[in-house]
Amino acid sequence: MVSDGWRTFLLISLALQLLGWVLVIYWSRRNWTYHPISRALQAHVRPPHSNWGSVASSVNTEFRRIDKFATGAPGARAIITDSWVLKVTTYHVYMALQSECHVTVTESRQHQLSPDSPSPTQILTLRVDSINPAARAFYISVNSTEYSELREKLHAPIRSSANVVIHQTISELFLDTFRAQVELNPTYTLPSGQDLEPCIGCMQVLANSKLVTLCHSEDSDSDCQQCFCRPMWCLSCLGRWFASRQDQQRPETWLSSRVPCPTCRARFCILDVCVVTR
Ligand SMILES: [Zn+2]
Ligand SMILES: [Zn+2]
Ligand SMILES: [Zn+2]
Repeated sequence: MVSDGWRTFLLISLALQLLGWVLVIYWSRRNWTYHPISRALQAHVRPPHSNWGSVASSVNTEFRRIDKFATGAPGARAIITDSWVLKVTTYHVYMALQSECHVTVTESRQHQLSPDSPSPTQILTLRVDSINPAARAFYISVNSTEYSELREKLHAPIRSSANVVIHQTISELFLDTFRAQVELNPTYTLPSGQDLEPCIGCMQVLANSKLVTLCHSEDSDSDCQQCFCRPMWCLSCLGRWFASRQDQQRPETWLSSRVPCPTCRARFCILDVCVVTR
């Protein structure tokens, strides 16, 4: 005996199967004219292209060139060829002609140095709009370090939202990690009678960092030395100095290494950097 539950299950599975075939047959009519990819291609049919097949072969030819820009994971790949901007996802292909599109940097996401990502990264989200009403707008993601390469390949105008700052070097990205780490350290209270002076690195802001050998309490074998300098550097300048003294090829070691104090050369680690308060 077959229960009603199983009968319903069988009917639903057969219906899904049938639906799948109906969809495939619908797509394949008139030489696959109704398939989603051929529809995306049809949006770009106009001279010199007479049909979507000719658009497809133009994309094909340019895609084979080695100078195309390509980025992203296999499930959401962004490709820029001489005249096309493409995004290839698992189920869809988005496309826009370079000569018809304009690009806006809409968002930036920062990923701090962490055990799973060996170097700090900034991911930019770009919206690609086309003046062609038949082409849908779409979003692509790029790493900020690839941004200059993208700009070289992309001839369309790029606009940036006011609140997006693009960090193109690892040192600039590292500054945010440095600052976040220092915020976790205890602060240093300025002795009464002492005043903060402008940072000697940039002369733009007050020097607000002090090196105190705090790491000793956690790890008695620490190689850090006490620095007796008064606060002379702002946090950004100290962070830049810290980054500049590192092995540039191995950003994953930066947080754990020691560098000399820019003034007295006493070695310090990131745990020893304190923000000065009054
Ligand atoms: Zn400074
Ligand atoms: Zn010092
Ligand atoms: Zn230390």
